[in-house]
Amino acid sequence: MINSGSFSTDLIFTSGVITAYVLILAAVLGAVMASFLTCLAGRTVTGESIWRGRSHCDSCGHILGPADLVPVFSYLALRGKCRYCHQKISAQSFFAETLSAAVFVAIILRLGLSFDALRAMILYCILLALSLIDLASFTIPDKAIATGIVLWAAFLPLIHAPWRETLKNGMIGGFVLGAGVLAISLMMDKILGRESMGGGDIKLIFVMGLYLGLTGGLFALILACVIGLIFITVRHQGKIPFGPSISAAFMIVLLYGRPLIFWYNSLIGL
Ligand SMILES: [Zn+2]
Repeated sequence: MINSGSFSTDLIFTSGVITAYVLILAAVLGAVMASFLTCLAGRTVTGESIWRGRSHCDSCGHILGPADLVPVFSYLALRGKCRYCHQKISAQSFFAETLSAAVFVAIILRLGLSFDALRAMILYCILLALSLIDLASFTIPDKAIATGIVLWAAFLPLIHAPWRETLKNGMIGGFVLGAGVLAISLMMDKILGRESMGGGDIKLIFVMGLYLGLTGGLFALILACVIGLIFITVRHQGKIPFGPSISAAFMIVLLYGRPLIFWYNSLIGL
């Protein structure tokens, strides 16, 4: 389970100046990571090389200068238009950067300077990348799933929880949720006569179970469905990728699971 109070948390929150400094640093790091991951996701979908080739405008192909590459602010300064051809730039990068800055700040506020926070930041980066790829291509890459599993295993001895218990809870959560969703989706496929849920979604739900355990994972799954329904209503499209909704619910429960589950239980009278 997630531990919110730790020694390091108390230490950084005793001084206002240090707190502000750490939070600004977290916001900048979040925005920079999002800027990189948006580029990485875009190039993964189009098949361009990730490491070679400079960033360029999608409309006119002009190579972007240093001033165009400052996350969040360059988009605001240029009012969402390319400096060279004045075509509209996709707002996706700007939204991803702003969201990521906020999430990184939330992670530090919730988990302090800890291995739990580091794990949450890396996990968020994986989820952001796979969500952007899922939005563009309706696929969740196996590499992202594998990275998520390796991260979970690698941080078992480092996080603020007894590792044997976390390992056991994670395995139960992952396999029960994964198998449950797989069974339901196979039944739905039979009834609907088409694929109801992608294989990538089921693998992502397995990973979510590893991190959150059975109770947290089940709660996140319900939340993901609610977010997915809102997403369908807002987008007015029949087919939407489920990855971003799962990812959003995953992060929300990872950070605020305990108070949320407590509130939910009191709501249904448990
Ligand atoms: Zn341009």
